Amino acid sequence: MHAGPDYSSLIASLRGSFASGRTRQLAWRDAQLAGLRRMLVEQEPVLIDALRRDLKESAFEAYLTDIGSVVAEIDRVRSHLPRWLKPQRVPTPWLVRPGTSRVIREPLGLALILGTWNYPIQLALSPLVPCLAAGNCAVLKPSEVAPHCSAALARFIPRYLDSECVAVVEGGVPETTALLEQRFDKIFYTGGSRVARIVMAAAARHLTPVTLELGGKSPCIVDTDANLAVAARRIAHGRFLNAGQTCLAPDYVLVHRDREEELLAALTGTIRDFYGEDPRDSEDFARIINQQHHDRLTGLLDSGTPVVGGDHDRSRLYIAPTVLRDVSPDSPVMQEEIFGPILPVLAVDGIEEAIDFVNRRDKPLVLYVFSESRETVVQVVDRTSAGGMCVNETLFHFVVPGLPFGGVGESGMGKYHGKWGFDVFTNPKAVLERGTRLDPDLRTRLDPDLRYPPYGARDRKIMRLGVAGLKESIRSRFRR
Ligand code: NAD
Repeated sequence: MHAGPDYSSLIASLRGSFASGRTRQLAWRDAQLAGLRRMLVEQEPVLIDALRRDLKESAFEAYLTDIGSVVAEIDRVRSHLPRWLKPQRVPTPWLVRPGTSRVIREPLGLALILGTWNYPIQLALSPLVPCLAAGNCAVLKPSEVAPHCSAALARFIPRYLDSECVAVVEGGVPETTALLEQRFDKIFYTGGSRVARIVMAAAARHLTPVTLELGGKSPCIVDTDANLAVAARRIAHGRFLNAGQTCLAPDYVLVHRDREEELLAALTGTIRDFYGEDPRDSEDFARIINQQHHDRLTGLLDSGTPVVGGDHDRSRLYIAPTVLRDVSPDSPVMQEEIFGPILPVLAVDGIEEAIDFVNRRDKPLVLYVFSESRETVVQVVDRTSAGGMCVNETLFHFVVPGLPFGGVGESGMGKYHGKWGFDVFTNPKAVLERGTRLDPDLRTRLDPDLRYPPYGARDRKIMRLGVAGLKESIRSRFRR
């Protein structure tokens, strides 16, 4: 037994609220989503300030990534929800006619949402949106690593949402461990793969389904015919947004050897354009979340030769946007997800080598490719596996509402955003409904008398013939 807090009475009370049935009403769901939206709008300055304190994010980026994206998701989900909730009719086969068959999207019950710290508002609320839309109760545990954002969510959520159905638990490992002792109907975890294994093992004890939104090393292939000016801008934006603390960031670049110098020069110029001569002074360049991560990241700087950047300041949690060249695939920076403002660039001799490099490693959250050649793009799409892909772009598949977001293999399991998120938090319940007026009865002549014993030789023959045989049997009975 662990010695952490005991959440059993909280869980019992949330389960009681779910059992009351009110979360199933469309009006309740819509009111929660509207409340969440109101919270984001009314408390925007406080939330942006919390983001600045935790990550020194620029107000522009904080709004874009943590507030605006959730507001947009809420609006989309609210507009589609009545349609998603409609029972879906499916054809009913001959064997069970007359009857109707439909799929009903029922809520799972009580969900646990474990957030992480790099986009601490968005990654807590984006799963909460489909969770509430699907009619569930929830326990939300924001990341303790972003304490100001965690405190703001704990303060505001009970004010704007139905506090008998949604609870925020703050804390770190002891609190999460204690929560994981409880039985949930769904666990939605965002974070690293080490803790994902702890979460999944805990979920297995109760056979609770999990969605794991993880990270990993997302490669970026730059082919010989790529538009390098655009590639450099989009790669630098993807890598250095939030000082590289983005699960989707291009983690390393595989560039065709013929274009390596040109790409390095373009990246250097782009970083200067984005953040000025000294990025330390830029309002738009974030800081590392804490000293532990700062130390981890500075330990990776020796893995190659800095083309640009390389300087850092522990007291200010600053690491300059850094591009490394002459990086060996065996060096420390190539072993684990970087999750910071360091971009290793490795030269390869062609697309075959790049594809092989990617396929010999864990399946990434995203694979990026920059190329003007249709043939190259098709090859990369067809011969690699990743949670998602962007061609001539970074990050922005994330904002396409119809695209599922999530990993595969080591980068996660399960997808969300839009309808995909709604699906994650619902049980598609299969309902067959029949009347009782017609039923096989040995005394009626309408009956194909296949279903009930005793089974005659003729029944066995028809069964083997399948549906066609059954139809023929029924037809012949009507012809008689
Ligand atoms: P983390 O795994 O340390 O923390 C995530 C959550 O797990 C927190 O709520 C934390 O309290 C809890 N936790 C930490 N240690 C625990 C333990 N021993 N037992 C139980 N619970 C524990 O977060 P992190 O790994 O620093 O997050 C960064 C990772 O998250 C990166 O790999 C990144 O790529 C990934 N990420 C993925 C996405 C995505 O949407 N796919 C988004 C952001 C981050």
